[in-house]
Formats: sequence, structure tokens, C-alpha cells
Amino acid sequence: MSKIYDVLIIGAGPAGLSAGIYAGRARLHTLIIEKLRDGGQIVNTAEIENYPGCLEEESGMTLIERMSKQAERFGAEKTYDDIVEVDLSGEIKKIKGTRDEYQGKTVIIATGSSPRPIGCPGEKEYAGKGVSYCATCDGPFFEGLEVYVVGGGDTAVEEALFLTKYAKKVNIVHRRDQLRAAKAIQEKAKANEKIHFIWDSVVEEIKGEGGILNEIVLKNVKTGELKSLKADEGDMTFGLFGFIGFVPQTEIFEGKIEMENGYIKTDENMRTNIPGVFAAGDVRAKSLRQVVTAAADGAIAAVQAEKYLESKEK
Ligand code: NAP
Repeated sequence: MSKIYDVLIIGAGPAGLSAGIYAGRARLHTLIIEKLRDGGQIVNTAEIENYPGCLEEESGMTLIERMSKQAERFGAEKTYDDIVEVDLSGEIKKIKGTRDEYQGKTVIIATGSSPRPIGCPGEKEYAGKGVSYCATCDGPFFEGLEVYVVGGGDTAVEEALFLTKYAKKVNIVHRRDQLRAAKAIQEKAKANEKIHFIWDSVVEEIKGEGGILNEIVLKNVKTGELKSLKADEGDMTFGLFGFIGFVPQTEIFEGKIEMENGYIKTDENMRTNIPGVFAAGDVRAKSLRQVVTAAADGAIAAVQAEKYLESKEK
């Protein structure tokens, strides 16, 4: 734990990588620490159509690959480690991972969020055996089969559209009778013959046989009626995709930094209540969680980190 970086960035999604590009370009000695793989949630997205400049088919993966290269090109270093403990209180911030320990004069938290579990019996048991949270990763396994998509937001409806490439029928199970998704996405889904809607319903239980998912029990929230849906004869199984929002990855910051409903509170300059500590992207309390807002947050955080460092030198 010898090196003291100017900027430590936790997370290599659009927010963290954008911060890396700006910090690197400002010639700040920068380290990006990623837990698993670059990209965060966006690599699970097959097609990005609303990030400015993406006109042709652009996947989350290809966009992130370019952002990663760009950050490296400007000199930001990268390492892979799972951060388990932070001490942000002093002038030098200390961050402990399962592999190593890191020190920085500033920290940008860009840890993002993870899929919210459906929270019903059988979900954990059948995760990876029919239950999934990533259409890009697991959609091809359901070629010619039926799938259920839970949720009514942008993610659920976009991913349902993507799943029509593989599945014979895609059922969107939503707890209300109106979608939350953007109108343009709704229109596409409603015009797609493969997509069907099961309104006012939630998943009550997930069941299977021989370790393979083959039944779900839905509850109509208005009538209380329970309905068991089984795999078509001959299919043996079907897919169940949960897209009911995300939970911020902030456990390690609890009690150490000001939060709002589990999200990190910042001002418009991405400053948290701790001097020298910034937050960017989905982990931050804000109204619009998009790649474009995450990238913008990252840029602002890095510029503010630079300003903070300059103020310390004076
Ligand atoms: P979201 O907007 O929070 O929507 C979650 C959906 O799941 C809602 O329809 C909600 O129902 C439902 N839900 C929540 N908890 C539930 C539960 N316990 N049981 C059953 N249903 C439940 O999440 P998201 O769609 O993942 O989107 C997250 C953010 O990313 C949003 O800001 C979204 O705009 C953005 N995003 C944007 C794009 C794009 O611009 N192309 C694509 C993907 C995501 P209610 O509607 O009844 O609350």
C-alpha cells in the first residue's frame, strides 16, 4: 500500500470510466477499481438507441469496450478487486479490497446498482436454471421456448423486445395495468405479435422439477386469484426474467456517508458530505438513471476532484 493516487475510482461502468477519461486527461494519477468486469448494468443491454451518437446498432458491451480503451489511452490505470472496507475520513482515503489496499487523495464512488430480486419462494433455487436477470446473457438459451418477463419499466419492456428474437412467446407480467416504460418503447412492444401482457399480477412462487424451472404461480393483485402457469407440453421448461428495478451497491458506505433511500447524496457537482469524496452514476440519489447521465456525472466528478486537489495545493 505504498502508492498514493490522486483519484481512486470505484466501479468501471459508464460513470467510472467517464471519470477515468476526464481524470486521466487532466493528468491526474488515477486508478479505476472494478469488482468483476467493466461496464456494470449496461453490458446486459443488447441495443442502446438513446445514447447520443449511437445511430447504428450499438450494444452495451461495444460501447463499454470503447470507453475502457479511451480511459486507458489517457493513462488511467485499472485493477480488479472487490472493495470490502473504506476509510474516507482523513486527507488520504483508504480503501481495502479482498486482494489489496489502496490510497487516494480523492475518491469517486461509481459502484452502480444490481438487479432487484423478485423476492418470492423458489427464486434463488432456480436462478441460473430458468430464472435470469440478463436477457443478453441468457436469452439464447430460450430459443423456441416461452418466456415471462417481470416488470413494466424501460428495462423490462426493452428486454422483452430483445427476447422476441429467441422466444416463441414473451409474456410481460406487470403489477399494474399500465406500463412505466417510455412511450416509444411501449409502442414497439404493443405492436409486437410475440409480446403478451399479464396485467395486475405478481409472481408468488417459482417451481420446478429435477432442478429445472417449469411452473410459476401468479397472483392477481386486484382479485387475489392465484394462477399456476406450466411449461408447454414438449417444452419441459420456460424462462423467467426479473426486471423490477435495481438496488444501489452502497453497503460498504453505510454509516460513513450521507445517503437517501440507500443512494449516495451529492450536490450538483457530485460532492458528497465528505471532502474529497464524490459519487457518480446510478449509485447517486437522482431523478434520471441513464448511460448519458452516468457519463455526465463521471465527467463532473473528475473535474471537481481536480479542483479539490488544486485547492489543497494552494
Ligand atoms: P424502474 O423504472 O424502477 O421500473 C421497475 C418496474 O418494476 C416498474 O414497472 C415497477 O412497477 C416494477 N416493480 C418494482 N418493484 C416490483 C415488485 N416488487 N414486484 C413487481 N414489480 C415491481 O426500473 P428499470 O426499468 O430497470 O429502469 C431503471 C432506470 O433505468 C430507469 O430510470 C429507466 O428509465 C432507466 N432505463 C432506461 C433505458 C432507456 O432509456 N433505454 C433502458 C433501461 C433502463 P410500477 O411501475 O408499478 O412501479
